[in-house]
Amino acid sequence: MLFEKDSLTYAKAAYERTLNLLEEHHRFIKDSLPLIASENVPSPAVRETLASDFGNRYAEGWPGERIYAGCKYIDEVELLAIELGKMLFKAEFIDVRPISGVVANLIAYTAFTEPGEVMMALAIPHGGHISHSKRSWGGTAGAVRGLVVEHYEFDEYNYEIDLDATRKKLRTLASEGRKPKLFMLGASVFLFPHPVKEVAEMAKEFDARVIYDAAHVAGLIAGGIFQDPLREGADVMTMSTHKTLAGPQHGMLCSWSRYEETLKKAAFPGMLSNHHLHAVAGLAICLAEAIAFYKDYTKQIVRNSKALAQALYERDIDVLYEHKGFTESHTIVADVSKHMNGKQAEEKLEQARIIINRNLIPKDYRLKTDYKTPSGIRLGTQEVTRLGMKESEMEWIAELIAKVIVRGEDPSKVAQEVSELKRPFNRVHYCFSSKTEAYSYIQIR
Ligand SMILES: *Cc1c(COP(=O)(O)O)cnc(C)c1O
Repeated sequence: MLFEKDSLTYAKAAYERTLNLLEEHHRFIKDSLPLIASENVPSPAVRETLASDFGNRYAEGWPGERIYAGCKYIDEVELLAIELGKMLFKAEFIDVRPISGVVANLIAYTAFTEPGEVMMALAIPHGGHISHSKRSWGGTAGAVRGLVVEHYEFDEYNYEIDLDATRKKLRTLASEGRKPKLFMLGASVFLFPHPVKEVAEMAKEFDARVIYDAAHVAGLIAGGIFQDPLREGADVMTMSTHKTLAGPQHGMLCSWSRYEETLKKAAFPGMLSNHHLHAVAGLAICLAEAIAFYKDYTKQIVRNSKALAQALYERDIDVLYEHKGFTESHTIVADVSKHMNGKQAEEKLEQARIIINRNLIPKDYRLKTDYKTPSGIRLGTQEVTRLGMKESEMEWIAELIAKVIVRGEDPSKVAQEVSELKRPFNRVHYCFSSKTEAYSYIQIR
């Protein structure tokens, strides 16, 4: 029994073990190919903020109107983050306090809806996120805010919302007295821009609001290469700040002055107390770097995704949506079911130190495949691009993936080639200062 052990001995061993595990993780990730579409490596300056004393303080409320003393420097940093956010996303109102993308969504749900009201969103196999989803799935919108989630009709062949079929569904909902109050856009498998303008027109008929969840594509939007949701008709844009926008793990919300008071109140006192001030500082740094570098960074991300997709496709891996150029973002999805299921692909590739994740794909919606063993895998090029990789490395990565999935080669042998490929790419690009290695472990104890 744990409580019968010598607790001091146990504590000391656990303390050492935890620190060792962190260092081991750093070695592991340094030697791997990180291709998870929702992650990134922040710049050394962002990592520096995360170890700062800001992370030990409180500053409830808005800069200048805090409920805590000692916020002089914290306030100035938060105002800088807000100013940079306004500049980068051309937004009238920015809130940098949401501590994650899910929390940013919950703030918007709270501001614009009452429990029991209807929200339109994408189903998960169509790219939707669990924070947009139904109560029966344990999703945030349903289970936490009590919204009734209805799905957009979806054109599986083109991987886009079927607008005509959705309009028809809306007429049915309206005739049943179930008019949507909220239209959610944005996704976790986000290959092509969403029809914000058309959906905003639908929303207008119901006097409903449109939220665009840019968690995955915030960096691409910052670089000006994906779409511009606020100009296209979104009322609010929510995001995580650590996916294609390579900041600290945090959230952010962009909107218009007319919603400022409602959104602020939903954030605090509604959803937040402490809002992770070290991450706010990291976000300021990341936004400044985005203004300076993301035009180049995001162009290369998309070039790399297309190159990786094409190279996999040529090696008998069924990357989806070839007829649409595979993708316009950092993400690609492939159906691997003729070789193995998504879970097996994920595990075998991990043994080869190629880190990807299994994913439900549209056909799984029809086949009702178990989410634990889906037909697909999802890959993102944003992190390897940040390390300086270009199209020729994408070709090499595709070759290594094909060795594992198509040709059944020994993953541990492939892992050696992964090390070789990765070795020269050990600095973060597209940032002001890169003195330390991308995955160095910073020891200050
Ligand atoms: C990742 C993701 C989120 C969740 O963001 P967190 O910052 O992890 O809370 C929300 N929405 C979408 C579409 C996502 O992909």
